[in-house]
Amino acid sequence: MEKSKAEHFQDKLLKEKKRLEIELKHLHDENLNTGAADQEAGGDQNYEDHMADAASSVFERERDLSLEDNLKDILNHVNSALHRLHDGVFGVCTKCRKQIDDKRLSALPYADLCIECKKAEERPVGN
Ligand SMILES: [Zn+2]
Repeated sequence: MEKSKAEHFQDKLLKEKKRLEIELKHLHDENLNTGAADQEAGGDQNYEDHMADAASSVFERERDLSLEDNLKDILNHVNSALHRLHDGVFGVCTKCRKQIDDKRLSALPYADLCIECKKAEERPVGN
C-alpha cells in the first residue's frame, strides 16, 4: 500500500478511535449518574411509580451496557487495524490473506475480513 494511502487510513482510524473513546467516556459518566439517582430514590410513597422508574432505569442501563460493549468492540477493531497498519499488513484479510476491496476499506477502515469471509462468517451454521 502506498504511503499516502496508509496515512489517509491512519488518520481516519485515529479520528474514529478518538470519537469512540469520547463516546465511551460519556456513557460511563451517564452510568455513574444513574447509580447516584437510584440511591437517593426511596420511601414507600408512590410505590407503583417508583417500580416503573426502577424498571425503566434497569432497561436504560442494560441498553447502555450493550452500547458500551458494542463501542468497545469497535474500538478493539480500530486498534488492531492500527496495529496492522503499523505492521504493513493493513487491508489484508486476516482469514484468507487476500487484499480487502478498497471500497470496503473506505466505508469501514477497521474491516479485518474481506467481504467473502465476512459473509461466510455471518452465514448461520447448519442452514
Ligand atoms: Zn477473506
